[in-house]
Amino acid sequence: MPGFELFSDLERKEVSDVLDNGVLMRYGFDGMRKGHWKAKSLEQELEKQLQVKHAQLVSSGTAAVSVALASAGIGSGDEVIMPTFTFVASFEAIMMLGAIPILVDIDDTLTLDPIKVKEAITSKTKAIMPVHMCGSMANLDELLAICKTHNLILIEDSSQATGATYKGKPLGSIGDLGCLSLDFVKIITAGEGGAVLTNNEQFYRHADHYSDHGHDHVGKDRGAESHPFLGYNFRISELHAAVGLAQLRRLDEFVAIQKKNYTIIREALSQIPEVTFRRVPEGGVESYSFLSFFLPDIEISRKVSIAYKNKGVDACWNYYDNSWHYIREWNHLKEMKSLYPISSEVKKGLEYLQTKTFEQSDHYIARNISCLIKLSWTEEEVRERAENMVGIIKSVLL
Ligand SMILES: *Cc1c(COP(=O)(O)O)cnc(C)c1O
Repeated sequence: MPGFELFSDLERKEVSDVLDNGVLMRYGFDGMRKGHWKAKSLEQELEKQLQVKHAQLVSSGTAAVSVALASAGIGSGDEVIMPTFTFVASFEAIMMLGAIPILVDIDDTLTLDPIKVKEAITSKTKAIMPVHMCGSMANLDELLAICKTHNLILIEDSSQATGATYKGKPLGSIGDLGCLSLDFVKIITAGEGGAVLTNNEQFYRHADHYSDHGHDHVGKDRGAESHPFLGYNFRISELHAAVGLAQLRRLDEFVAIQKKNYTIIREALSQIPEVTFRRVPEGGVESYSFLSFFLPDIEISRKVSIAYKNKGVDACWNYYDNSWHYIREWNHLKEMKSLYPISSEVKKGLEYLQTKTFEQSDHYIARNISCLIKLSWTEEEVRERAENMVGIIKSVLL
């Protein structure tokens, strides 16, 4: 990760198909296209490869989460349970609909703790949204069982785990809805883009219309289409879809390279008894985009993290003090800094953020280091890196 590391003639060919006919929009202009429908083709290939009935491409992963929630009828005042360790986008996407993100502790999987999820359910809860961070997953069987008992929707944010599976099924295909990001730094990229995945016919139809001003996409005259309900523009362009199409065809190749590099580093770190690894739920197979491990305490993980930076082991993060991925430093959200007035319902719904602490999440995030696994490393570079990582941890532990 990220897929841009290995851009090739495959991506160039798809983009030049689009520029040759000049149709940059995904809908209409049938006569000019010379048969090229990149967004439609990418949706079909996503459906096949990720084993879902429907994929709806949109303009970003953030849009995918908002569109998925809207498609399931989630909006004003509804509560959506999500983890404290996430990308800030998942929180924003809920806010955009006037719904209320309810943050819940993570466990040693670095994703939602099902016990804490149960405790957070109220009469306003409409959905549970696990975020499959850093290439691995939440315990989906347990979350599905909770959703069934309480009649809730399960929405997977699998933006960071495309290519991972749970009990043989691709992540994103297991919940009622799944969301992918194809932004520039994800395992497969379109530059910008995202997708909503679902096996639910109605949710799919909603996502298709909602992401294009409510257009029903019936017939061949866009101007004459009807609009069954309110929508906005979250469309992807053909240029972006073209890059995404070439990249999706390389997903298995990318996962295989990541697995090889990940395994070399993991085996090296396993020699240190003080290092433990993030738990992958039973039946889960990672996308190997990151290697995440725990150190004995926060002092050690801070020292190791700083030493990695100073000694050229790049792309490793301790998220404790990070303002993008972890609640602790989200001051603009805790203080609800917004350009425009936020509804009193949401303000009230988010009051808990002023005072609530997340000791269990702190316990795991403070001790965690997550290292990106790159596609472009040579085997020699990976081995050298693994040796450096081990050497630095040993010197800090001394
Ligand atoms: C990247 C990401 C998103 C948002 O994707 P964009 O395409 O950048 O909008 C959402 N959730 C998670 C977990 C992500 O990593």
